[in-house]
Amino acid sequence: MTLASLETLKQDFSGDVILPEDNNYEQVRNAYIYKGSPAVVLRPNNAADVAAAIRYAKDRGLLLSIRSGGHSNAGHSTNNGGCVIDLSGINQVEVIDTARHLVRIGAGAKWGDVAKALQPHHLGISSGDTVSVGVGGLTQGGGIGWMVRKHGLAIDSLVAAEVVTADGRILRASASENADLFWGIRGGGGNFGVVTNFEFEAHPVGKVHAGVIMYALDDVPALVKGWRDYMRVAPEELSTTLLLMPNFGDFPPGAMVLVCYAGDDAAAAQQALDPLLKIAPVLQQHINEKEYAAVLEEARPPAGVRILVRNAFVPDFNDDLVAAVAAHHCKTGTPALQIRSLGGAMKRVPADATAFAHRDAEVLFVAAIFLPLDADDAMTKAALKPWDAISYTSTGAYIGFFDSATAKEVAAIYPPATYQRLAKIKKQYDPQNVFNQNYNVTPAD
Ligand SMILES: Cc1cc2nc3c(=O)[nH]c(=O)nc-3n(C[C@H](O)[C@H](O)[C@H](O)COP(=O)(O)OP(=O)(O)OC[C@H]3O[C@@H](n4cnc5c(N)ncnc54)[C@H](O)[C@@H]3O)c2cc1C
Repeated sequence: MTLASLETLKQDFSGDVILPEDNNYEQVRNAYIYKGSPAVVLRPNNAADVAAAIRYAKDRGLLLSIRSGGHSNAGHSTNNGGCVIDLSGINQVEVIDTARHLVRIGAGAKWGDVAKALQPHHLGISSGDTVSVGVGGLTQGGGIGWMVRKHGLAIDSLVAAEVVTADGRILRASASENADLFWGIRGGGGNFGVVTNFEFEAHPVGKVHAGVIMYALDDVPALVKGWRDYMRVAPEELSTTLLLMPNFGDFPPGAMVLVCYAGDDAAAAQQALDPLLKIAPVLQQHINEKEYAAVLEEARPPAGVRILVRNAFVPDFNDDLVAAVAAHHCKTGTPALQIRSLGGAMKRVPADATAFAHRDAEVLFVAAIFLPLDADDAMTKAALKPWDAISYTSTGAYIGFFDSATAKEVAAIYPPATYQRLAKIKKQYDPQNVFNQNYNVTPAD
């Protein structure tokens, strides 16, 4: 960075400019898993700053990464030698209309902080499972959270957003303003501009009943089938994840169901949870009434291993798939597999209402495949075998759970009709593809 170019930037940028020689560079250079060495990190205070930052990066031809919470599994929110716009300074959570439960949230806020800030208002938004995931990235992917079956995806509660486009315009996107842009940001990732603020219609949320049930592995096929059968008829207040784990160090393989019953009626919660206590012998259970904010946790990925992340939406979790899942998991060296229950409110939204098209999925498979850091191609291929055995019926994938972003992943995320519509919106709002560090949509007519 030349001193002169930074002086020009500072004329219309009120935020922090962080360079490799600065003391706080170490704190901002990396994203969640990925290490980076950007030439400059710009931390804006408002939308006008964001517009100045985009112009600065564009004029100098710098690679541009956008970061809200920094949790991109594919490492999109840092880079080497380019510019990062880090939105962590735009992180307010304001209730702007008490009667309508309207809240305005800065893109750089973290979902754990959002849940805590909304708790005194007895409000909540179904977002994700992790406190430190950012509002900006998760929302634009869809947002599959602990109340997905009751309240749908995070985008299903979104009513408007403020977006700074590649040419520096500050636009409002909603059902009635720039409606095509509003459609695109609800599932289309960060392809169209930098979102600075989101307006959500939050839901009344009191206490929830949440925790974990751990099972004996006597009969894994019966356990998986029992969970599948029950989630097909369970009340929509109940969202659950079946977790099938390999051994870890001294810990043997295990199976558990993580639950969140989004309701404060203890008797109704018990009735909803009881069938899950009968699908296999229970080793332990820890389910308590708690604030929704307490359900979100911090993720702790194991150190010293390479983690491949794969995911697949499954429209019909049929008996063959149940058998394949049971045969290939809960063993030494198998992937850690999450199976998230979907349906309910998420399914009732038409597939073309937003850029998130996978409304008909019964479940989402998310696999974390652990490899030694020096794993070669043969080892990688072998480690992926259990995944290949269960993902073959998938109709698509979720943007949030991939460790890479090749054309194959982009095609899995966006079915052809969705992609074509996104490409037109891209051409209108970002014809030069300035925002390309993402699951990229190429501008087209
Ligand atoms: C530990 C962990 C747990 C997760 N759990 C869930 C879960 O329960 N449910 C779920 O749905 N997803 C989950 N995810 C996936 C998560 O939604 C995505 O990784 C998401 O992109 C993270 O958002 P972020 O703001 O933290 O990421 P960032 O890394 O900051 O952003 C990711 C990308 O999104 C785009 N982007 C981010 N902010 C903006 C913005 N303001 N304007 C324009 N573009 C932007 C950019 O392309 C950026 O590179 C999880 C991920 C991790 C690592």
